[in-house]
Amino acid sequence: MTTHDVIIIGASLAGSACARELERSGIDAVAFERDRFPRAKVCGGFLSPGGVECLARLGVLGDVRAAGAVDVASARVRMDSVEVRIPFERVGLGISRRCLDQIVASGIHISQQCAVTQVDRIDNGFRVKGPGFEATCSVLVDAAGKLGRFTRRRPAHEFGIQYTEAGTRGSVLDFWFFEDGYGGAVSIEGGRSNHCFLINKDKLPKYLNRPECLVTGPLAYDPLPGDYIAVGDAAGMLDPFCGEGMRHALDTGMLAAKIVAKGIRAGTAYEEMRREYEWEHNRRWSRKRAIGAGMREALRHRKLFRTGLRLAPVRWLNRIWD
Ligand SMILES: Cc1cc2nc3c(=O)[nH]c(=O)nc-3n(C[C@H](O)[C@H](O)[C@H](O)COP(=O)(O)OP(=O)(O)OC[C@H]3O[C@@H](n4cnc5c(N)ncnc54)[C@H](O)[C@@H]3O)c2cc1C
Repeated sequence: MTTHDVIIIGASLAGSACARELERSGIDAVAFERDRFPRAKVCGGFLSPGGVECLARLGVLGDVRAAGAVDVASARVRMDSVEVRIPFERVGLGISRRCLDQIVASGIHISQQCAVTQVDRIDNGFRVKGPGFEATCSVLVDAAGKLGRFTRRRPAHEFGIQYTEAGTRGSVLDFWFFEDGYGGAVSIEGGRSNHCFLINKDKLPKYLNRPECLVTGPLAYDPLPGDYIAVGDAAGMLDPFCGEGMRHALDTGMLAAKIVAKGIRAGTAYEEMRREYEWEHNRRWSRKRAIGAGMREALRHRKLFRTGLRLAPVRWLNRIWD
């Protein structure tokens, strides 16, 4: 059995960002991760300009660029006969999750291939268990993603699929809305492009014929009240067409680390840290969540959505990405 100030469940973007920031603050933190890096993950592979800034704050942007991340300077969005070009005010990056997650997770205290199966409250903290390991801590952070078992979310009807292809899309993010869902393609490292789509659950089978196609789901946007400090998708997903999910994961991981490090030094109770984190999380992210939900609703009315797409896409993006 080991003892730590902080245990983080999951060491993808949110968990690793949190662990990295805690280590920088001199706090003893460990992240338990079910998988072993590098590993593939279903994702659009497009990091928004705000996400790029998060990587800079974490001190890993240089490594990500050196690994071959591609600058993305505009989007080409299509729905039926409408096609619009949207130049970005600041560049985003195209990169695979196989590559990005490994970089963000490198050089910090992570126990890989350790799936947490049980969390118990004990005096002054938590006991965490999995096959072959057990540890205690005073602060627990849930970074186990949208399918994590420790914080509840309301499941949606969509699933995500992804595959990569040889050849790039240059500096353009291609994005399509179609009858069964939406998604797009972006250049990533190694002269390849990443293709990723959100598909309505009922229509999923007809999209699974590619042998290398990965699937994830169901997606889950709406968080339900929980017991733990939850970061990234564990706290509820942002709609992927906002392109801000990775930024949300990195930003909330760092935010939790800041509040927890301060709380540990001051002897603050866990519940108080959790309240402070949730308040600040809502302040930063509830408007974007509402925009995502509004756009999802607008998508049900294709004619209206097409008109909006023709008239105001740059304004939409700036509101989402500011
Ligand atoms: C189809 C699709 C397309 C997307 N496209 C984009 C995009 O282009 N741009 C963008 O910014 N965002 C995109 N997103 C969103 C983005 O992928 C997520 O927001 C991001 O991965 C969240 O990171 P996270 O660290 O919170 O969770 P995750 O990346 O899901 O990581 C959770 C981690 O926890 C681990 N874990 C789970 N349970 C346990 C356990 N019990 N014990 C130990 N470890 C555990 C998992 O192995 C995993 O590594 C997309 C999402 C989907 C579904």
